[in-house]
Amino acid sequence: AKAEGRRGYRFFEASMDARLQARRLLELDLREAVRRGELVLHYQPQMDTEHDRITGFEALLRWQHPTRGLVPPADFIPVAEETGLIVPIGEWVVRRACADATAWREPYRVAVNLSPAQFKSKALVASIVHALADTRLPAQRLELEITESVLLAETEGNLATLHALKQLGVKISLDDFGTGYSSLSYLRSFPFDKIKIDRSFVRELSEREDSAAIIRAIAGLGQSLGMATMAEGVETREQLERLRTLGLTEVQGYLLSPPRPADAFPEIAPRITSA
Ligand code: C2E
Ligand code: CA
Ligand code: CA
Ligand code: CA
Repeated sequence: AKAEGRRGYRFFEASMDARLQARRLLELDLREAVRRGELVLHYQPQMDTEHDRITGFEALLRWQHPTRGLVPPADFIPVAEETGLIVPIGEWVVRRACADATAWREPYRVAVNLSPAQFKSKALVASIVHALADTRLPAQRLELEITESVLLAETEGNLATLHALKQLGVKISLDDFGTGYSSLSYLRSFPFDKIKIDRSFVRELSEREDSAAIIRAIAGLGQSLGMATMAEGVETREQLERLRTLGLTEVQGYLLSPPRPADAFPEIAPRITSA
């Protein structure tokens, strides 16, 4: 039994090593990916529920890997977060999204996800100022999506950062709303432009009456606080109609379209500039 235990322990050690090694390789690979320009942005349309008109597109990061194919953000953003690589990657995302948006036929908003580590970086505000100046994208066309975890840590400094960003004229959305802690106090301490209700509430809409009640309450809250309210993960027409009835002002999800490269959408396909 003792020998087995030792073997078990050794095995565990080996697999830990293997995991660490795999992580280190991923980190190196990711560093190279940034240098080689393998990161790409896909876009997913957002629609208002009053006129069924497109209002903007969310930029979603993918890694076009030479051998692994298109890698989703869940497979590399956690490592980018842990290693701090998310800061240069996030700066690239903002810059790329702003540059892309200036080439769109219509002046839709472009929404970008900010990670907590990016938010803590002292250079965040300056990097956004520069991205806007260099691409000449009007600030109000840029929307920054942040999650509650950003507000949870280091509240004073983060709140100051949020106000500095708001001062620039960019829009600020609270992402994944309903999945974190004590969400309501955040709504009081910062004037968000939009609340994005987490996909889980939409998914449970048909099975759970309380999901509908929560969504209705958030829609009402948004209305009285002057914030737009959006549902993400809308996949069916039934969900869309239900969310409209519940009072949400915007929707996003596979029903409209999954995220795709910009040139898949006539509305934002890069203009062909003829000389
Ligand atoms: P998120 O910000 O909550 O983005 C929404 C995710 O839901 C996206 O996954 C999107 O493809 C997916 N989605 C959209 N509509 C539907 C639907 O109708 N049904 C279902 N099942 N899923 C839908 P994706 O692109 O894999 O991104 C996952 C997460 O990775 C994002 O969640 C965001 O937290 C993070 N992420 C993506 N791009 C970036 C980025 O540039 N920077 C940072 N920091 N995080 C990013
Ligand atoms: Ca988001
Ligand atoms: Ca989400
Ligand atoms: Ca998220």
